[in-house]
Formats: sequence, C-alpha cells, structure tokens
Amino acid sequence: MLLKRPRPAEDSPLSLEDLPTPNPGPGEIRVRVRCCGLCHTDLHTVEGDLQLPKLPVVPGHQIVGVVDALGPGAQVFKKGDRVGIPWLHSTDNQCDYCRRGLENLCDQAQFTGYHVDGGYADYTIVHENYAYRIPEVFSDENAAPLLCAGIIGYRSYRLSGIAPGQRLGLYGFGASAHLVLQLARHQGCEVYVFTRTPIHREFAQRLGAAWVGSAEDAPPNQLDAAIIFAPAGALVLHALRVLRKAGTLALAGITMSSIPSMDYSLLYHERVIRSVANSTRQDAREFLQLAAEVPLKTDVELFDLEQANQALQALKKSEIRGAAVLRM
Ligand SMILES: [Zn+2]
Ligand SMILES: [Zn+2]
Repeated sequence: MLLKRPRPAEDSPLSLEDLPTPNPGPGEIRVRVRCCGLCHTDLHTVEGDLQLPKLPVVPGHQIVGVVDALGPGAQVFKKGDRVGIPWLHSTDNQCDYCRRGLENLCDQAQFTGYHVDGGYADYTIVHENYAYRIPEVFSDENAAPLLCAGIIGYRSYRLSGIAPGQRLGLYGFGASAHLVLQLARHQGCEVYVFTRTPIHREFAQRLGAAWVGSAEDAPPNQLDAAIIFAPAGALVLHALRVLRKAGTLALAGITMSSIPSMDYSLLYHERVIRSVANSTRQDAREFLQLAAEVPLKTDVELFDLEQANQALQALKKSEIRGAAVLRM
C-alpha cells in the first residue's frame, strides 16, 4: 500500500500498487512480510503531520516476516529465519550521539516506512544489523506490536525512572500502554490509567490496573512516575499535579499539541519532564527478551493489507482495543 500524497485518513490516502520486488544490497536482507503493525506515527505520516522525506512511500514499521534473500556479505541470518524490523532503520554509527549510546538521536538516522519503504507490502529490505530475531513464544501477529508500541513503550518506561514496587501513571491507553502496563505489573508496580475511552478503561481494568479514571480525576495516591502516550499537551499539567516530588513525566509521542503555560510550582521540587524519541538497537534487544520472559500478551485486531486505510481510520477514532495489525 503506497502513500503518494498525504491526506486525512478518512480520504483513504493509501492505494494498492504493484511494485517491483526489491533486491538486497551488501549486508542487507530481503524479508517476505507476514504482517505489519499500525501505529500513530503511520497516521501522522499518511496525514502529513510529519515532514515526509520520501514520496511516494510505503508506510509501516512494525514488520514481522521471513528472510527470503541475502545480499552480498550478509551473514547474521539465513533464509527462512523469522525477523522483526522496527522504526530505527539505520544510523551512521559515527556521529556524536551514536558514540554516546544515543543512536536513537543519530543525526543521520533513517526510519522504516518514512525515509525508506516499510512493511505495508509483500517484501521489504533492511540491513542485517537492524533486524531482530522474534522469540518463538510469539505468533507473527502478536509479535508485530512489540516492534514499535512495545519498544518505544519500553524506552519510555525505562526513562520514566520507575522502580519496582512504585506507582506509575499512564495517560492514554493504546497499543503501547497496554504492553507497558503488563511490564510494570510484572515488575511489581501499581499502574494508574487515565483514559476517557470506555473500551480502553475496561481493557486496562482487565489487565490489572490498580485504578482507572480521567486525566482530571484525582487518583487515591500520588504517582512516582508517569508516561503520556496521548498527543495532548494539556495532559502535562494534569500529570504534574499528581506526580510526587522528584518524579519523572515521560512524553512518548512523536507529536503533541501545545503545552499550556503553567505555574512553576507544578514543576518545582525537582520534578522532571522529558520526551522520548525513537529507540536504540539495545532497547529492541532488551525489550524482546523481556517481552518473552513476562510473557507479554498483545491484544491485536487484524486487517487485510487492502484494508490499511480502514485500519488507520479505526486507529484515529480510538476504536482499536490493543494494537492494529495488517496481515499480508
Ligand atoms: Zn549517528
Ligand atoms: Zn510506531
């Protein structure tokens, strides 16, 4: 499914096209895609909220498939291996950020389904060093949401500084949050979920949330850390109001509406607000291992590749419980 020109999801911006099967270059692998998750970044891509470096482009960056051809010199995988491809498609391995262990911020980073064609397709290409083995415990469909919702959720969770036994707040309860909740519970945390959507509230409760309410509500306890997944800047103030001294508020989204001005007292006492951008290969490896240990249960709604527009529309209307996944 190809995006030629960004348009609102309601106008079905993706079209089914016949594209030549790509050939892997040196060190690259070709992957026969089995399924690909959809995420809010895809929505921001097709709607043009993000500046698009490549058009037309095949979106999709939560790819699960099977290695189908090896480029010259590729040796990490063999044909038939099952792999996952996430958002981070390549880095230059040499800029200041890469050298500091922050390759997620690499000046030359390329992202799957954004700078290069992604997974809403039968085949895709990636360098062997940026693909990951999928633990056997996961089916193809259940593995797909781990590759962005999961990995970004994990990085957000990590950067929130939450420790076992503490209280974590989650604002918005989509694909990422439903995985972070399970991870946090596995590590003995209490999870407080703030969402308006009835299907998301019911879902959070079933997954073991300690408390579910609206962002305006006061939970029974102050929180040690919180993560905002919803792209609404006003939530920042709500979250700071219920955050303990020295607590961290992590912002997981790639876009967010303006954050309203606020009284300094909301931030004072060493509260920290930080954004989370992309993820590193280390995040991906650590998270996939942890996901298999828990093991995380992904809740997926399946769509056929041809229904990619409908799937994005459902995602936009918060009609997806868990994660949306395209199957080839
Ligand atoms: Zn770099
Ligand atoms: Zn994503």
